[in-house]
Amino acid sequence: MTEYTAPIEDIKFVMEDLLDIYSHYQKYPDFQDVTPDVVDMVLTECARFCETELAPINQSGDREGCSWRDGNVTTPSGFKEAYQHYIDGGWQGISHPVEYGGQGLPVSVGLIRTEMISTANWSWSMYPGLSVGAMNTLIEHGSEVQKKTYLTKLTQGVWSGTMCLTEAQCGTDLGLIRTRAVPAGDGSYEITGSKIFISAGEHDLTENIIHIVLARLPDAPKGSQGISLFLVPKVLVNEDSSLGDANSVSCGSIEEKMGIKGSSTAVLNFDNAKGFLIGKKNGGLEYMFTYMNTARIGVAIQGVCSSELAYQISLPYAKERLSMRSLSGTKNPDKIADPIIVHPDVRKMLLTQKAISEGGRAMVYYAGKMVDELSQCNDESEKKNINDKFGFFTPILKGFLTELGFESANNGLQVLGGHGYIREWGLEQIVRDVRISTLYEGTTGIQGLDLLGRKILLQGGRSLRDFSKEILRFCGKHSLISGNEHKRRMHKFIWPLSKAVVNWQRYALKIGLKARKDRDMVGSASVDFLMYSGYVTMAYFWAMMAQKANEKIAEKPDNMEFYRAKVRTAEFYFKRILPRTRALAKTMMADPGTLMQMTNEQF
Ligand SMILES: Cc1cc2nc3c(=O)[nH]c(=O)nc-3n(C[C@H](O)[C@H](O)[C@H](O)COP(=O)(O)OP(=O)(O)OC[C@H]3O[C@@H](n4cnc5c(N)ncnc54)[C@H](O)[C@@H]3O)c2cc1C
Repeated sequence: MTEYTAPIEDIKFVMEDLLDIYSHYQKYPDFQDVTPDVVDMVLTECARFCETELAPINQSGDREGCSWRDGNVTTPSGFKEAYQHYIDGGWQGISHPVEYGGQGLPVSVGLIRTEMISTANWSWSMYPGLSVGAMNTLIEHGSEVQKKTYLTKLTQGVWSGTMCLTEAQCGTDLGLIRTRAVPAGDGSYEITGSKIFISAGEHDLTENIIHIVLARLPDAPKGSQGISLFLVPKVLVNEDSSLGDANSVSCGSIEEKMGIKGSSTAVLNFDNAKGFLIGKKNGGLEYMFTYMNTARIGVAIQGVCSSELAYQISLPYAKERLSMRSLSGTKNPDKIADPIIVHPDVRKMLLTQKAISEGGRAMVYYAGKMVDELSQCNDESEKKNINDKFGFFTPILKGFLTELGFESANNGLQVLGGHGYIREWGLEQIVRDVRISTLYEGTTGIQGLDLLGRKILLQGGRSLRDFSKEILRFCGKHSLISGNEHKRRMHKFIWPLSKAVVNWQRYALKIGLKARKDRDMVGSASVDFLMYSGYVTMAYFWAMMAQKANEKIAEKPDNMEFYRAKVRTAEFYFKRILPRTRALAKTMMADPGTLMQMTNEQF
């Protein structure tokens, strides 16, 4: 059984020291009651649930998987009971509106729940996770009747939701979808088509499943401008939210797949199923974009969670496992060999995992704080600014953190040597489970294009400039503060960070100029640019964490070693991970010719 211990001390460090979260809550009338007591209760109770109920069914869920029979799906043993306890505890609606049965806490508090359930058992967390996507879509774009009829049951977790986008011929290019929606004459629509790869599309955890489906109206324009969004319940719902007849939605099969085996991935067949339009006709793609930003944060967190879990397994192993002697002299004279944690290469793998988990956590919670601000903002122009920043941040988080999460899980496996490759320790499961995160909710390639194309070049680089200014303000502040001691401590972070940020803008500009002559420049540079952006962004968070940790160390707290470890991890990040940007700078600026001149036949 893989064990999980919630990283409460680190979450509190990020929330309290780094993000000063309680001053942030105090700014908003809706969050006046969000006191340290409330957050501590969430931390403690959620940790208990995850450590004692979800983690124990993580490996067994992987072994047992989901099973399909006559259109019904059975989830692995223990999943149903854990789900019931989860909804009994009110966890599903923790950061959803009180008027729909939620607890109305900020999204940043809801993220604590998301991180913990996702680390303890990613497959299980997919069921409530997809539901949150459906709930957010209805809150943003649903009619009052739709909200009234469906949201309370979804928020309570009595029903669950899905997002049905993908079809056999398209996942990335949703303009190619073929599912049809024909007006039924009574205000509803008849939906016909097949959706594949639908997470939580069928299961035995809830009495109803509310599918959010992309489909095309008969007179719709071609391509992505002609897709609309529909709500299609598995079981039809009466006006008073009681259940009616079964709808014509059936689960044709579930996928056999590499990982996340406890999460059912369904083929759903809609056969003149009754559906209801969400928002305006042909507005589907626009609505999907608002949904995707939050959903992508939900996937970005999978990178952090996998990294954290892999680290929690590989660290104690590295302290116990004996192998040879340290090159710099015996460290463990009482034993026949030294533990592998003395070897530099093993330390590098452990520190890489630690840097990714903690750096990634800081980035994700910072994004959560932005969502809080967005939810409380009434000024349209301010809202647009936050939205633009969030939109700019999203592909970096999703693309970069999932790629690094996979690297980190692999490092965890490597620390265990051959034992990492066998089932018993749970590492091979983490590697298999996290691999999907770079694919769904938009592949890394698509995140790269989104960042460089849509969020930077098409917007004249405004969001990049604004975020760079924020980072440079931080750099300026900590390089100018008087007092040699502080400057000395921060110099090693501030100088490389400032340089990388200035270059970040320079490279974006250069790529934009080159792209005027050769449009393939954007596609050939985009993933390297995305990764460059991720490394610089994470460097900013590590520099801020080092600064906060240094401040704390000066106060001589009881948990001094925690803060010293923070500073050392920041030093490791700056010396051994941030320099990857140098290679990326070279490859992203390379002429697209080396990719494009080869003919298809020459491959
Ligand atoms: C386990 C699992 C769960 C899933 N859950 C859901 C779900 O709940 N709901 C749902 O709707 N879908 C779901 N999906 C589908 C998933 O989102 C898609 O598989 C994903 O978006 C990629 O689409 P695709 O598989 O069609 O690949 P394709 O779109 O065919 O892409 C193949 C490759 O080509 C690249 N590519 C494509 N177009 C471009 C381009 N213009 N420029 C550069 N590169 C490009 C891609 O990056 C990728 O590397 C799930 C998939 C899996 C495997």
